[in-house]
Amino acid sequence: MSDALIFAFGKDPAPVYNLSPEEALACLGGKGKGLIDMHALSLPVPPGFILSTTVCRSYFAEKFTLTKAVQDLIPSYISGIESVTGKTFGCRTHPLLVSVRSGAPVSMPGMMDTILNLGLNDETLEGLAAQSGDRRFAYDCYRRFIQMYAVVVMGVPDHLFEQYLTIYKSAKAIEQDRDLLETDLAEIVAHYKDIVLDHTGYAFPQDVHHQLLTAIKAVFESWMSARAQVYRRIHGISPDMGTAVVVQAMVFGNAQGESGTGVAFTRDPSTGVAELTGEFLMNAQGEDVVAGIRTPQSLSKAPNSMEAVMPHLYADLKALGLKLENHFKDMQDIEFTVEKGRLWILQTRQGKRSAKAALKIAVDMTESGLITEDEALLMVDPSCLTQLLHPTVDMRLAPVSLCKGLPASPGAASGRVVFTAEAAVKQAELGLDVILVRTETSPEDIEGIHASRGILTSRGGMTSHAAVVARGMGKACVCGATEVIIDRDHQSFTVGDETVREGDEITIIGQTGEVHLGRIPTLEPELSDEFHVFMTWADRARRMKVRANAETPEDLASALRFGAEGVGLCRTEHMFLEKKRLYAIRRLILARDVEDRKKCLEDLLTFQREDFIPLFKLMGPRPITVRLLDPPLHEFLPRKEEDIVKFAEESKLPLDELRDRIRDLHEVNPMLGHRGCRVAITFPEIYETQIQALLEALLRVEHAEGFSVALEIMVPFIATEQEMLLLKASITRITEKVYKELGQPLSFTLGTMIELPRAALLADKIAPHVDFFSFGTNDLTQTTMGLSRDDAATFFAKYNEKGIFKEDPFATLDQEGVGALIKMAVQKGRAVKPTLKLGICGEHGGDPKSIDFFESCGLDYVSCSPYRVPIARLAAAQATLRSGRTIVRAEIPQKILKRKKG
Ligand code: PEP
Ligand code: MG
Repeated sequence: MSDALIFAFGKDPAPVYNLSPEEALACLGGKGKGLIDMHALSLPVPPGFILSTTVCRSYFAEKFTLTKAVQDLIPSYISGIESVTGKTFGCRTHPLLVSVRSGAPVSMPGMMDTILNLGLNDETLEGLAAQSGDRRFAYDCYRRFIQMYAVVVMGVPDHLFEQYLTIYKSAKAIEQDRDLLETDLAEIVAHYKDIVLDHTGYAFPQDVHHQLLTAIKAVFESWMSARAQVYRRIHGISPDMGTAVVVQAMVFGNAQGESGTGVAFTRDPSTGVAELTGEFLMNAQGEDVVAGIRTPQSLSKAPNSMEAVMPHLYADLKALGLKLENHFKDMQDIEFTVEKGRLWILQTRQGKRSAKAALKIAVDMTESGLITEDEALLMVDPSCLTQLLHPTVDMRLAPVSLCKGLPASPGAASGRVVFTAEAAVKQAELGLDVILVRTETSPEDIEGIHASRGILTSRGGMTSHAAVVARGMGKACVCGATEVIIDRDHQSFTVGDETVREGDEITIIGQTGEVHLGRIPTLEPELSDEFHVFMTWADRARRMKVRANAETPEDLASALRFGAEGVGLCRTEHMFLEKKRLYAIRRLILARDVEDRKKCLEDLLTFQREDFIPLFKLMGPRPITVRLLDPPLHEFLPRKEEDIVKFAEESKLPLDELRDRIRDLHEVNPMLGHRGCRVAITFPEIYETQIQALLEALLRVEHAEGFSVALEIMVPFIATEQEMLLLKASITRITEKVYKELGQPLSFTLGTMIELPRAALLADKIAPHVDFFSFGTNDLTQTTMGLSRDDAATFFAKYNEKGIFKEDPFATLDQEGVGALIKMAVQKGRAVKPTLKLGICGEHGGDPKSIDFFESCGLDYVSCSPYRVPIARLAAAQATLRSGRTIVRAEIPQKILKRKKG
């Protein structure tokens, strides 16, 4: 990491900073790095300088002070900008104005602050007016600056300015800001200064150097704003990195003539199609586009688009976009300004995109030779694939829409309408699906957006706050639905004659921008060609296998469709939730004599055999790990009084006796009680029956289908070698008995879950008796951390806030603690049995960060829920690539090759 505090750009020759791309990003932030790179590529960037993230960290470490070294350096960097622009900071005749903008190493759109037009005061205002020949423009800049500075630096509430402006405009019947005359703006400026004085007791500062220093501090401080903290928490961004601050000469999109500002993506961020897409506002400043103040024009293909209005500049922008894409080897999101016919690029960064677009871009760029297959794999965030796997709306059931807005973020979502972020959070906490409906969203709404199924706004474009944030979160979003008229006082909105009230259900379709009344049934997603090609690359690049946790034919079918290579965990207890099976297991648990018990076991045998046959058929020769019964028996017994009475009637058990038995089986701490293999030690018939059912099903399927079933039988909750030995003996006994009955031996492997610390610590004692270990990281996390997997969520938020847990340890593996046990068990197990197969079947098996860790442990496979299988396939490929391990890659299947040729 560089020690330098400030970095200049935009003054030729371009300085050479000798930072690796990673160092540059960490030190300069995304915006700063982009500006320095663009300058080096000779792109038109206004000159400026970057205060590094080091300055930000020391600002907080030094209790909110900029060190003297930094303060002393700033004037010389301002001089650097002055020498390029020929303007002088604070000068009455040729004033230099600057923007002061945040820019963290990780993009956090709209979460931190920005100040534009800094350097204006009552005197420089005149200079700007004379220099531009446009007094209206100068006043427009001044009123914008006063408002931004007062809000960000002096803490004046924004609504005081907005309210005044609205009242002023309506009193004079002015519709748009751009219709304000110079005299209006002068009056507004005077009033804005009064607002500042009234609210703070201080006059609006006239000293431009004071303005600059205080603005820099305020922008650093916005790193710690509540909304930035929430955003970081949601996106798992470390609070330690800090933000850089970019100070840059202003260029004016709000000047007269051929001027404007816009945002362009080098490829379509929703579909990935390789064409410049974006929005543009004539005679406006950057913040107008982001805030959705006016609905912008599109860049091309429309009568008033940038392509139509300024064709030469549009062509330049396209060429610059291509240059940037070729340089960064990724789709770019560009902010640009046109000032009196001259194009300036203010920012470039990797563009956020939908999952569909991410795959198309990765595949297209690889096929065009811009990047390699491995670079393409590393470019896509595995978690985003969830977006592709979730249902969309069956359009045949939704013929007539209520209205249409912009298709801002793909996905379909139904839910009850709410109008505030707070209501969204509250109702989501009650388990309700909600759609947040707003005129436009602001960074304050971040928690509400997170809690909602989808977002609908009546204003703002494809790059408005709602669109960018929703896309990033993978939520459905429809923006700029102008027919939606929101009545906040009555908590309702109207579209023509139709009124929709809070609590009414609507459906929004992010792919088309449609809004429908009521809830609409959904359709399973269809996976694109790019998805299959990309996942084939991932499969070739990964070392670990990916299996699924599944126990029903439906789940198994989904898992196989998503590319699971086996089942890593079939929880047999889930098979007993069906009514008849539940009754049978209850009868078994409560059986009063041997005869009764025998009859119940026969029922159990039949049911289980029926359960296993379709699973084995679907599996073919792929491996399937079936776990013998795990939960404490009392979990199967009725709890509610009416259920107890009903069961007593059905089973003809005396009610009092039934109540006594239920009481006897009750445990204070069942998670650590009579469960897993412990039940089998005291009550062996259940496992014996399950094994018999497995073997009978296996034989039937092998005979009927002609393939061998790769059955793996797994025992849960082993803590000691003795438990394993006793159970192995009982399993051997029962298999021999069954082989005799069936007239032939059958093959399967035997393994155990490692989900208790003692089993991990003594893995070398257990390994000789089994063929495989499967880490049950749910219980292993619970028992290692002494943290209840059912209750701990109540205090996680506090722990997270205080930085005790950076992530939920039940979602992302605690590598330091639980991970140390896994590493030890791997090493001890393999030391005594090098052929020991190793897998993981806890929830962490579908979490990319944890998968990276499992790769480093050398596990053979991960297993996760069906919908996370594609995530795990990609995360495993990325883990192998990052590990630097070389693996022999499989051939690309014919159908993929054919598609590539075609
Ligand atoms: C585990 O403990 O990680 C596991 C997979 O088992 P279960 O979640 O069923 O307890
Ligand atoms: Mg478990």
